[in-house]
Amino acid sequence: MSCVSLPTVAMLKNDTIVAQATPKGFGGVAIVRVSGPQVKSIATLLTGQPLPPRQATLRTFLAADGETIDTGIALFFPGPQSFTGEDVLELQGHGGPIVVDLIIESVLHAGARLAEPGEFSERAFLNGKIDLAQAEAIADLIQANSKEATRAAQRTLQGEFSHAIFSLQEKILSLRIYLEASIDFSDEEIDFLKDENILQRWHVILAELDQLQIKSHQGSLLREGINIVIAGRPNVGKSSLLNALSCKAVAIVTSIPGTTRDVMRQSILIDGIPLHIIDTAGLRDSTDEIEQEGIRRAHDEIKQADLILHVIDRDSSLDDWKMEQANCPILLIQNKIDLTPHEPFVQTLKDQVIIHLSAKTGAGLTLLKNEIKRCIGWQPQEASGSFYARRRHLEALVQTKKHVLTGLEQLAHHHSIELSAEELRLAHLALATITGEITSDDLLGHIFSNFCIGK
Ligand code: GDP
Repeated sequence: MSCVSLPTVAMLKNDTIVAQATPKGFGGVAIVRVSGPQVKSIATLLTGQPLPPRQATLRTFLAADGETIDTGIALFFPGPQSFTGEDVLELQGHGGPIVVDLIIESVLHAGARLAEPGEFSERAFLNGKIDLAQAEAIADLIQANSKEATRAAQRTLQGEFSHAIFSLQEKILSLRIYLEASIDFSDEEIDFLKDENILQRWHVILAELDQLQIKSHQGSLLREGINIVIAGRPNVGKSSLLNALSCKAVAIVTSIPGTTRDVMRQSILIDGIPLHIIDTAGLRDSTDEIEQEGIRRAHDEIKQADLILHVIDRDSSLDDWKMEQANCPILLIQNKIDLTPHEPFVQTLKDQVIIHLSAKTGAGLTLLKNEIKRCIGWQPQEASGSFYARRRHLEALVQTKKHVLTGLEQLAHHHSIELSAEELRLAHLALATITGEITSDDLLGHIFSNFCIGK
């Protein structure tokens, strides 16, 4: 694995690529996109004469043998003022698969090659048109599954996330320069801890980092969602709860215990957050081979859950439940409140939150949804400024914080200016991986190969 710090000339591509930018299949219009040094000559060959820059021009698209393939709009964007930073041609023709194939064939014949997935965005990154976080946001915007997610991806694409990273990097760098400069004057015994200014600067960095982590966490909830497992003994109402949360009868509900034998999955959105809800077989001792397998699967899901909804019914005592294998928060749900004279409510007993509701009537479901949001750290007021962060961004922020805190400790407790400055250098590098200032070829390959072709 080799490391790249900012794209070098050698990495920049000198061939011309082509791909369909719109989805495959039939449609009103299809767009074929071409990027690279041969765009001008390809445009002339395909449309019969040179194209004016940045003007929608009605042209006939020609095959290699001069036959007309289609008539449509041709757009020429000279580099570097284009999406990729190279010369770009967009041909908007009729949206039939054969028409598109013929246009692409003609472009290939004129000297281009087929683009790899994400290659247009990769070129935009390599040519410095966008940074890595913005490039990732393009793919995320296309795949966003709620309007909240779309807004968060758009903010990252507009560079808000990257600006926040750069601002933090600047502060870390200037603090490091200050520390390093003082190394040369160490004989003069500068007491940094008495220097209010330096501690103040450290705290500003930590506060900014905290804000960035909160906003990224909110965005990552929108992007990744969370896995919620419904668990409990047979017949307590687990399948009914899955159906109630998903507003449809996805799971079979009967009064016969042990009906759910396999794992049932259903995804729903709450405030734009995808909740991947998993209904599992009732946990009990069973001699039935199929049920035993279902229970084994239930235990597997419980181990991997982000949140467990442990359901008990009215007859179970609130002290009489256990969930040994869970590594995540648990919400206890006492179901079937409709069989009692009480209204749904939330209570906390010995630090355990208990929601009393009815999966059958739906009473108390809003209380449950609010508790789920609270449990996963969803802060609606922060969501409006959230960044559509990926897991790798969150990990980089954790690393950054670790180095900033260690740096502070080196200074405060060990009086080591050198080690403290070194930690700040590492914090700066961790942030640089987010924007792609410093990144590995492997990571770039992995990120762009997950894009669709034509992006
Ligand atoms: P599971 O085995 O835990 O998945 O439980 P089910 O969802 O299949 O429900 C078992 C039985 O309890 C069915 O007869 C349901 O109609 C009934 N049930 C589930 N939830 C409620 C509820 O909130 N109130 C009442 N009265 N019955 C319920």
